[in-house]
Amino acid sequence: MLEQIQPFQAQLVAVSKTKPAESIQALYDAGQRIFGENYVQEMVEKEGLLPKDIQWHFIGHLQSNKVKYIAPFVSMIHGIDSFKLLAEVNKQAAKHNRVIDCLLQVHIATEETKFGLNEEELTAVLEQAATLTNVRIAGLMGMASNTDDLDQVRGEFRRMKELLTAMEAKFFPGAGTFRELSMGMSGDYTIALEEGSTLVRIGSLLFGARNYA
Ligand SMILES: *Cc1c(COP(=O)(O)O)cnc(C)c1O
Repeated sequence: MLEQIQPFQAQLVAVSKTKPAESIQALYDAGQRIFGENYVQEMVEKEGLLPKDIQWHFIGHLQSNKVKYIAPFVSMIHGIDSFKLLAEVNKQAAKHNRVIDCLLQVHIATEETKFGLNEEELTAVLEQAATLTNVRIAGLMGMASNTDDLDQVRGEFRRMKELLTAMEAKFFPGAGTFRELSMGMSGDYTIALEEGSTLVRIGSLLFGARNYA
């Protein structure tokens, strides 16, 4: 898998939710440093057990009242889907004298259930975000539709890249800071890479299937 990712210069986020610390340590020993978690309590517990140079990426749906638990150490938050949440991350980051990298989650899939901002909401959040000093908006995150129609998946990823380019031109011209595209999971990461992903979030392909029971 790394051989497939490297030519695209994208980074691998190893999604370790529900997996024990030993499994993370094994991948760490093989050189992996970026790990993604979906649940606050689980991420906090693992952070306490594992090496301090791990970069923890929060990729789940984050509730405002839980930001304070991950603010001391989280490296990047992928799923920002409201200004209210972004403002809370900014507030908690300031308490720790930190600037936290954030990605805005956009809604690209056809399913109603997936979280995320539409273009209008994305624009509104970026306008308001200009005043925040303890978050750095590094790009966009999205999940494609869960479908066998690979053309549709590709089209959704392409749409994300277009949004990134448009928003960069409008809000960060020439800065080079708004560049990350977090897209692609075990089932669709090769398409995501072809469409410009810079962060693929891969779980089951690395750790095996998850057992939620
Ligand atoms: C669980 C999860 C992943 C990883 O999914 P796999 O199909 O196991 O690779 C990626 N992104 C998000 C947001 C997730 O919740």
